[in-house]
This record gives sequence, C-alpha cells and structure tokens, in this order.
Amino acid sequence: MMMKSEKGVVVATSGRLFEVRAEDGSHFKCEVRQKVKHIAVDTTPVAVGDDVLFTRTDDAHGAIDQVMERRTAFLRPSVGRETIMQILASNLDRLAAVVSIKSPPLKTSLIDRFLIAADMGSLEPLIVINKMDMKHPSDIEQIISAYRALGYDVIPVSALTGDGLDILREHLANHRTLFAGHSGVGKSTILNSLIPGLNLKTRSVSSHTNKGKHTTTNIKMFELPDGGFVVDSPGLKVMGLWEIDRENLPYYYRDFEPYYAKCRFHPCSHIHEPGCAVKAAVENGEIASFRYDNYVAIADTL
Ligand code: GDP
Ligand code: ZN
Repeated sequence: MMMKSEKGVVVATSGRLFEVRAEDGSHFKCEVRQKVKHIAVDTTPVAVGDDVLFTRTDDAHGAIDQVMERRTAFLRPSVGRETIMQILASNLDRLAAVVSIKSPPLKTSLIDRFLIAADMGSLEPLIVINKMDMKHPSDIEQIISAYRALGYDVIPVSALTGDGLDILREHLANHRTLFAGHSGVGKSTILNSLIPGLNLKTRSVSSHTNKGKHTTTNIKMFELPDGGFVVDSPGLKVMGLWEIDRENLPYYYRDFEPYYAKCRFHPCSHIHEPGCAVKAAVENGEIASFRYDNYVAIADTL
C-alpha cells in the first residue's frame, strides 16, 4: 500500500531518529530519507522546529521525506568543531532568557548575553525572572525597571507559588520560544507548571554537576496547551557569543544608540577614548551603569 506524505513538525532529536508531531497531535519516531541528507545545504539536514513532510510507516514510526524552507535558524558552534555552525533549532520567534533572583544568583551580564544572542538570531527577547518567592536582592526592582525602560518584556515569576505564570503563558501562547538559561534557574519547573502532565525531572541546585559541560543532546520542543511551543535546551547554558566583533558589540546595546554619534572619535569603543558620549551618559545616569559594566566585560571576552 502506498502511504501518503503528510505535514509535521520535528519536536525532538534522539540519536539518528527524529520525533515528528503530526497535525493530529500524534508523534512518530522518524528516520531521514537519504535524499533529504543529500540536498541539505548546511551541517544540519534536520533540526528541531523544522516543518517537514513525512510518511507514516506504522503507528509509531515514519520517514522524513522533505524539510520545508526554514524561516529562522538559531545557530551555535558544533561541539568539538567550533568553526562549524550547527542549527540548534529552527523556525523560532522568541527567546526567553530565564534567570533566577537567587540560587543561582542573578547575573545581568548573562541577561545581556541572551539579549544579544536573541538579536543576532532575530528572535524577540523576553526576560523571565524566576524564584521571586525567595529573598530579593536589593537592586532587583532597579534592574527590572532598567530593562523595561529599554522596551524589553520582563516577567517576574515564581514557579513554586505560581505567581506571574499567567502573564508568562500569555507571552508564550502561539509563539515558538527558546528557553535559554543556566541549569538550576527553574526552566523544568516552569515548563511542568505550564504543561499539565509533563513531569520533567527537576533537580536540586546542589546536584547540578558539570556546570561548564557542553551538551548537545536532549533538544526538545514542548507543545503548550494554549498553542505554541517551547524549546528547552540544556546545551544553551554555555552559549557564548560567537561571530560577533568587538566593533559591532555597541550596536547590540540599544541604550547606547542615542549617544554614539556624539562621541569625539569614530569608531569609538566607548571604553578608553576621551570625549565619549556613551561614557558621559553613564556618568550622568542616562545609561544604567550595570549595562555599561556588562558591555565592558563582554567586550573584554571578544
Ligand atoms: P532547570 O535546571 O532550569 O530546569 O531547573 P529546575 O527546574 O530543575 O529547578 C532547579 C531547582 O530550583 C529545583 O530544586 C526547583 O525546585 C527549584 N525551583 C524552581 N523554581 C523555583 C521557584 O520559583 N522558587 C523556588 N524557591 N525554587 C524553585
Ligand atoms: Zn564612545
């Protein structure tokens, strides 16, 4: 019997097989047809988030016949071969930078890195601050208002008490969002609260080992009850900022924009030049000093 090709979306990778969600909501473990591998133009013939045409071979298995054109691709360097880019997930439209106010402690430099990564990947950023039930660092309100003043959506939540989760749900509905955050911030706990019956394993912060370890596996896309998907990737905790030049870094700081034309030198690194309008704006409080400090720290690593 000839089986008909149908539409699906790749929701997970597991070794050489891909899990495809059919439009009726059922899932199939699929192999990739040889011809798909041959026509692939980059290192990732099939990625989580790809819209595909596939054929069912039985009620749990199938084969991917065609990968539709990708609207967006979120890249990162291949593990062990850092010059080769790999598609972490495709067709995403939002990036949620998930951080916690405590354990692990809030680092605005990490938020900035995620915002830059979102910008580079053309994803709309969202800042999710979890564990709001814990004792607040004294500057938390200032940090939240500084990002909001720049036009970023900031959503304080507590996965533990449920506070803020309704607002988060609204922001995620009908989007495909990448959850980016260090392990231990509560991504799994948040996902478990958003998706009844999901039951992802959560781990106590102290049991998180191998903090700096690169992991490629377990990129998975979860379907939200209100529509849309969330991609959770443990590998993202080590996401660096590749392919960004020091000279371009200032353009990722939207708060610097009104000032750089007024710097005495062009180009200006805004770090050591005299007559720098960005530094002047930091000194008179028009640019949040923590943002500027993060900029200098990130520039140092490039
Ligand atoms: P992940 O690595 O980002 O997926 O983090 P987990 O979801 O595994 O959570 C790490 C730890 O933080 C677990 O012990 C959770 O119970 C705890 N946790 C998660 N969310 C909250 C929260 O909102 N408040 C508090 N106090 N603890 C939380
Ligand atoms: Zn300058």
